[in-house]
Amino acid sequence: MLDLINDLWFLKRDIVSDDFDKALSRLADEVPMTIHEYPTGEPCWTWRVPEKWTCHEAYLETLDGRRLIDYTDHPLHVVSYSLPFEGVVDREQLLEHLHIHPRLPDAIPFAFKYYDRDWGLCASKSLRDSLIDDSYHVVIRTSFEPGTLKVGEVVIPGQSKKCVMLVAHLCHPAQVNDDLSGVMVGIDVARTLAQWGETNRTPLHYTYRLLILPETIGSVAYLSHNEHLIPKMSAGLFLEMLGNDSPHALQGSFQPESRFDRCQRSVFGALDPQGYLGAYRSIIDNDERQFNAPGVRVPMLSLSRVEAAKDTGRPPYPEYHSSLDTPAIVSQERLEASRDLVLGLIQAWEQDQFVVNRFKGEIFCSGYRIWIDYRVNPEGHRRLFEIMERCDGEHTVSDIAGDLGISFKSVREVVELLLEKDLVSLSRTPQPTAPPRK
Ligand SMILES: [Zn+2]
Repeated sequence: MLDLINDLWFLKRDIVSDDFDKALSRLADEVPMTIHEYPTGEPCWTWRVPEKWTCHEAYLETLDGRRLIDYTDHPLHVVSYSLPFEGVVDREQLLEHLHIHPRLPDAIPFAFKYYDRDWGLCASKSLRDSLIDDSYHVVIRTSFEPGTLKVGEVVIPGQSKKCVMLVAHLCHPAQVNDDLSGVMVGIDVARTLAQWGETNRTPLHYTYRLLILPETIGSVAYLSHNEHLIPKMSAGLFLEMLGNDSPHALQGSFQPESRFDRCQRSVFGALDPQGYLGAYRSIIDNDERQFNAPGVRVPMLSLSRVEAAKDTGRPPYPEYHSSLDTPAIVSQERLEASRDLVLGLIQAWEQDQFVVNRFKGEIFCSGYRIWIDYRVNPEGHRRLFEIMERCDGEHTVSDIAGDLGISFKSVREVVELLLEKDLVSLSRTPQPTAPPRK
């Protein structure tokens, strides 16, 4: 994953741009991918696809020709989607258009004006503070032209047409953790899912669709052109900021009591004991908003390694949206740990079925040799009975875990034992064996 990051990270991956396309086609060499194209001006619900933007040349010079900022040194020196501009400006006017990072004095900030357009340059605070001349020479040669917004889709078919959406964004020029890291994890997850049958006893139930897109407009373009798929989207997971050195954060969907939310909550703690949970929009905002939105309402959670949740008012990680978000802050080991965590979440969702009792009454545990001696293991004894009590065709594994406040894994272990003894079966739909009396 890190080799690929090194190849792609410095590309100028603006939302509709040649370098975005270049990065996406390089990723299409890694996994079988369909690339959907949406032309400039195309209506996407209440949005429209923007133009392709190219920065041909940009610099800031003193009037005697000393170059202070040059786009060829770093793609973040120009505001993404900046209007072209050329001329001599006084210092005050320049400062109105020169963006700096709010916290990092030596970093160039990531600034963008996709829809509310203006011209702009970006620099470190240290450079800005050194500007003492009365006037400067600005050159920004950018062009806006018809192009196509691209969304890469990797489909891993399962037995069911019901699908799980995995989403990561590839935009953000010359940055890594946000969100090339999520893209890499997504690609590696897709690669593993494609070989699922070889390493798991059962084939994949759900179909998985990984989308690699430009943030927000990419999701809206895809959803608005694939409305027929929306009813089939049973769940979703947005992947981002997965390379930095922090525990995982799992943000719930707009529907915290959805089956997918409950399942993922019940398994997450065992997959990263240091990890933390947060409500919808409390940790970080991204494309999951488009999937959770009115008219769509797919329960999409978000997995990240956000260090400080949004509601703390601190940045998600120190190098966020700056030129310091480089390959140096991500590690192969952490990317692999995140990939394994995503696979753990997926495995639980695959296994989260309704547990249907083939028995009536309370099971004769010692007869089936599954009795746990309460004198030796009182907790195990109690749990066994509490779990068996809920095997009634109306509770899934994660429902039982949630009810009892225990892990998915511990419920699953008891269910495996009952399956072995042919005392229960599993079902994708509720099969109440004695519906509650009203
Ligand atoms: Zn971002």
